Amino acid sequence: MTDEGGNQVKVQVEIGNSLVSVTAYKAVVGRSILYLLETNLPENEEHYRDLTARVYGGDSTTRISQEIILGIGGARFLKAMEYEPVVYHMNEGHSAFLTLELLHEQLLAGKKLSKAVEEVRRKSVFTTHTPVAAGHDRFSRDLINFSLSGFVGSLGISLDEFMGFGRVKPDDRDETFCMTVLALKMSRAANAVSELNGKVSRQMWTQLFPGRKAEHIPIGHVTNGIHSLTWLSNEANELYRKRLGLQWQAKLVRAKDWAAAVPKIQDADLWALRFALRRKLVEFVRERMRRQQLRYGNSSDWVEKSLSADALTIGFSRRFATYKRAPLLFTDIERATRLFGDPKRPIQLIFSGKAHPRDDAGKAFIQQIERLTRDPRFTGKVVFVEDYDMGVARQLVSGCDLWLNNPRRPLEASGTSGQKVILNGGLNCSVMDGWWREAYNEKNGFSIGEDKDLNLPPDQQDSLDAANLYEVVERKVIPLFYDRDAAGVPLKWIKMIKESIRTIAPIYNTTRMVNEYINKYYMEK
Ligand SMILES: *Cc1c(COP(=O)(O)O)cnc(C)c1O
Repeated sequence: MTDEGGNQVKVQVEIGNSLVSVTAYKAVVGRSILYLLETNLPENEEHYRDLTARVYGGDSTTRISQEIILGIGGARFLKAMEYEPVVYHMNEGHSAFLTLELLHEQLLAGKKLSKAVEEVRRKSVFTTHTPVAAGHDRFSRDLINFSLSGFVGSLGISLDEFMGFGRVKPDDRDETFCMTVLALKMSRAANAVSELNGKVSRQMWTQLFPGRKAEHIPIGHVTNGIHSLTWLSNEANELYRKRLGLQWQAKLVRAKDWAAAVPKIQDADLWALRFALRRKLVEFVRERMRRQQLRYGNSSDWVEKSLSADALTIGFSRRFATYKRAPLLFTDIERATRLFGDPKRPIQLIFSGKAHPRDDAGKAFIQQIERLTRDPRFTGKVVFVEDYDMGVARQLVSGCDLWLNNPRRPLEASGTSGQKVILNGGLNCSVMDGWWREAYNEKNGFSIGEDKDLNLPPDQQDSLDAANLYEVVERKVIPLFYDRDAAGVPLKWIKMIKESIRTIAPIYNTTRMVNEYINKYYMEK
């Protein structure tokens, strides 16, 4: 990043005994500017040069160094660029050291500590969406001392006063420094990313607010939404332009307009759209499978006969985190065999996704699915698309009839992939978790199990959810999809698609979400 004079914009941060230079790349994304911090500069010691090369995989020393770069370096970089943010919005605790850099500025300006904290809180808001305690970054007193002693000194406070900012009980010398605790203490407001995630987060952090009941913990929620136009297929866009008018995109969040417009869409047009998108997906996946087979050195003749443009097409693509339970539908292999073996009511399932490099259990799920794709009972009906990315995701969310989401509740803080199928005419079949338990109204998709806290041991919860999944797929999904009129159109299925578009499209998008952040969190009250 260079300034007007063509000089590289750089700031420095202290990590341990070293000074690390930080610059940034500027990416223009739509109407937003995104700065990507970079430490790969000739003046930096070798081991600091690749700190910004990858997000995952490092140890705690790498992690704290990255978070110092992001938080302290980031705040200094914005200042060097002469930005004066009205609000600093932290997404998870990773950037929370920025609040201490802001504190540093306030103290330099001569404010007393308590007043300085008040000023920092006035400018900071925080979003948390990790509903498991182990998922929050924590650093030992030794590591904080090693990495930040210079910075702590510049604040004019002791190491233990500093540790207190990241501890639930500031004086507890055994407690580590938690970035989420820091962010919660230093923000004027905090939120989770769905209603249920809010409830879980309030329960998780009650200790931080002694004397308050969980329901009074000041963590609210803004449910996540997708940038609808990014995930809208050209074919669906054409249909809406024809039926709803050229300006339909401007009415995205106007529920009344959708309620008026959706009945104008002809059932036959919607069904033709579904067929076109499904066929396109089948061709896309076959092409990817051909290339995969070629790379393995296998014959790819069978690929021609795999998948069908007429079969009920189920999609599952996302990160292969284990709590998302990708292979849940194969819990009872006999039952799965019957499901996939019915020649009158064919179904097919397309998987795609990647596991975290250190998540061996997630990788084992991918291996399990890969074996299923070679099992004669499922070959050509269960497929796995490699090299998952947004391009693959876009094909899948356009072409699938049914989007499967079966995480272990309440671990899916919001989830968003299911929102991407709506405007393309896909339906959701999901556990009552995250965004879906707010959107589901019994007529706009399918629920797996009930909206209830089970509090069961994980293995029991898994078998119960698997049973509920079979139940809904066998008794509701498949019969509805194959209930056809004389012209071969599944009128009840299409009715459900229309209800899904009408009730979900206007709400689960970024326009609504950003407005909600502005009104509930960014505007000073
Ligand atoms: C939307 C999206 C996700 C999120 O999927 P979830 O179902 O919310 O886990 C993950 N990966 C990609 C590429 C996406 O586009």
